[in-house]
Amino acid sequence: MPDRILIAGAGPAGLSAAAYLTSKGIPVTVFEAEAQLPENLRASTFHPPTLDMLAPFGATQGLIDQGLVAPKFQFRDRVQGCLAEFDFAVLADDTEHPYRVQCEQFKLNHLLYNWLQTQGGADVRFNHAITGVRQGDAGVTAIIDTPDGEQNFQGRWLIGAEGANSIVRQTLDIPFEGFTWDERFLVVSTPFDFATALPDMSRVNYFPDPEQWFFLLQVPGLWRAMFPTRSEETEEEIFDPDRIETRMQWAHANDLPYECMHTTLYRVHQRVAEQYRKGRIFIAGDAAHINNPLGGMGMNGGIHDAFNLAAKMADVWHGEADEALLALYEKQRRPIALEYVNNQTIRNKQNLEAATPEAQKAFRDSLDDALSSREKTRDYLLRTSMIASLRAAAQVTE
Ligand SMILES: Cc1cc2nc3c(=O)[nH]c(=O)nc-3n(C[C@H](O)[C@H](O)[C@H](O)COP(=O)(O)OP(=O)(O)OC[C@H]3O[C@@H](n4cnc5c(N)ncnc54)[C@H](O)[C@@H]3O)c2cc1C
Repeated sequence: MPDRILIAGAGPAGLSAAAYLTSKGIPVTVFEAEAQLPENLRASTFHPPTLDMLAPFGATQGLIDQGLVAPKFQFRDRVQGCLAEFDFAVLADDTEHPYRVQCEQFKLNHLLYNWLQTQGGADVRFNHAITGVRQGDAGVTAIIDTPDGEQNFQGRWLIGAEGANSIVRQTLDIPFEGFTWDERFLVVSTPFDFATALPDMSRVNYFPDPEQWFFLLQVPGLWRAMFPTRSEETEEEIFDPDRIETRMQWAHANDLPYECMHTTLYRVHQRVAEQYRKGRIFIAGDAAHINNPLGGMGMNGGIHDAFNLAAKMADVWHGEADEALLALYEKQRRPIALEYVNNQTIRNKQNLEAATPEAQKAFRDSLDDALSSREKTRDYLLRTSMIASLRAAAQVTE
């Protein structure tokens, strides 16, 4: 039996799995297609249970040191101000970290990679792109495109965590069911000091609006505003500096033009793989599910997959559980992606874009209701922090 576990992709999901397995003394090899850890701007919100999971690797403290603690989040109206404010303090008995941390996801990848380097055992190979995979009774073979040509690597199991376009998922012929939204999402990063301009605002703010909803999140040194674009807008129009300025002035009227540090435009999908496993090969993170970013559940859900799967693999590896345990990974995690993350993120989008007065009132009433008692606020935050989904998964035992 091959003496290691193979992981494709050095993103949050792949590196989380690598860190957990390494902490259990299991040899892993991680294949990363890029020459170094990618540093593109993507997720920036770490939820409380994710912080709990990452703490043993020093990554949570690293995220806190390099990021911003957000103890509250708000729904706001551009004119009326705060509509509803949720304080994570009510989760003090549910998590070691009753707050979100706002920090660029690439910093997590560096923290986990650096931790792996201190452990000696982890083998992370850059410029190694997985191009195919084969399996038999005894193990799995990853076919890897390396700077020295194609090479084969053997492992006991393989985790495909190489993102939404996963070669592993495609090679296994696993359908990626779901849909793509018509509108693309535009992210604008600015050093403008919203905290001074709107001192009562929190670090995470959602602005429902029938004309143009948006959100405003703070990361170190910058605020990120995200807007939906209209399906008929061309890229040239979307990136036109005057139009970006108009969008920013719409979000918050300011005497001076906004300084714009980065812009990102991306397509948004709601898709869940039909299977998370075929034989010795598993998929996790964006390889298994993708959703809109409203609620910050994509990266967090992928990290939760990684810890779930790695813990089961570790138990089987060390003879503490039968191999049948691995079947629980898909049974626990796929319904969460389908019924919880997918539905919740779609609902989040519908709430923000609610067009009729009735729909807007229903959303505002639901916020008032969630704030009407400590127990209701706690239930709401257990759901939006993804603690409830982890507890639901833990209930699935066969
Ligand atoms: C603009 C934007 C904003 C987002 N905001 C949020 C947010 O606020 N909150 C949230 O939770 N999520 C957010 N997401 C989603 C989040 O970024 C992803 O869910 C997360 O990156 C998934 O992690 P992953 O490890 O599964 O995959 P990835 O981060 O995509 O990592 C995959 C890795 O595999 C590598 N790779 C690719 N192909 C191969 C190959 N053939 N062989 C080897 N390696 C390969 C890639 O280079 C990459 O390093 C956002 C996404 C985008 C695009």
